[in-house]
Amino acid sequence: MSALAIPNISLNNGRQIPQLGLGVYKVAQGETERTVLDALEAGYRHIDTASFYRNEAEVGSAVRASGTPRDEIFVTTKLWNTDQPRPLEAFEESLERLGLDRVDLYLIHWPQPEHGQAVDVWRALIDIAASGRATSIGVSNFEIEHLEQLIAETGVVPAVNQIEVHPLHQRRELSQFCSDHGIAVEAWGPLSQGKSDLLERPEILAAAEAHGKSPAQVVLHWHVQQGRIIFPKTSRRERLFENADIFDFELSDAEMTAIASLDEQRNFGPDPRAFNDR
Ligand code: NAD
Repeated sequence: MSALAIPNISLNNGRQIPQLGLGVYKVAQGETERTVLDALEAGYRHIDTASFYRNEAEVGSAVRASGTPRDEIFVTTKLWNTDQPRPLEAFEESLERLGLDRVDLYLIHWPQPEHGQAVDVWRALIDIAASGRATSIGVSNFEIEHLEQLIAETGVVPAVNQIEVHPLHQRRELSQFCSDHGIAVEAWGPLSQGKSDLLERPEILAAAEAHGKSPAQVVLHWHVQQGRIIFPKTSRRERLFENADIFDFELSDAEMTAIASLDEQRNFGPDPRAFNDR
């Protein structure tokens, strides 16, 4: 438990990850260090970044300047698509930008199926984990067939799969596969990235009213009540507190069913099977 009473989730290698963190995609350069320091001061102990976000250096300087012991902060970063041919070098560059000697979680950002390199990249991550410089390793945006291939060819099951999930895009089949294989699901875009009317839907507003919570708190709690890991992005101080104040209520079965009915299988990010951007 952190100062904010954020629960931990156990990963399949026995390591613990705080169920709630801060995501820093699109937190501007020049603003990230302050935002991460605010989050750590508020009691967040989990930061999700990526080389693609171009703010690893600011994340690292905030972690080092915070006064919070390194071992108490969970830091995730990711291997970008164009670096798939050079995973080890790219990982070392991420560590250098972060100014850290290890990360808690290192992810393959997208499977890039057209390039067919995911298994080789996964083998490199297995070596990185064996070296102790990434405590846990996992993947992001992997579909069932991509996970099956990694597991069949290496025997090493990713600790997490970080995928787009929110009430408009619930990914039930993929989530069930992950759960059956001991892969923790991290939901990116947990609030649909602010790109929909999700927070104005009557089902969300009714639950918010019933529990004296904001619509965003209802949606974030809907994720944690199903065991997912989330790291909603905000650079606004008051929202850092709002987004973390979600562990003191339970949605009823009827409210969960009402939110389940919102699934439109509608993604706002790229399609992982078709995204091959290099
Ligand atoms: P999100 O669903 O967290 O949405 C963020 C937006 O929601 C904010 O910009 C703001 O407009 C709004 N918001 C935040 N708190 C709110 C509140 N309390 N009330 C009302 N609105 C609020 O989307 P995201 O940032 O894309 O996803 C979260 C994190 O997931 C990212 O920062 C990043 O770390 C990660 N991510 C990963 C991938 C991937 O491919 N692996 C892709 C996108 C994001």
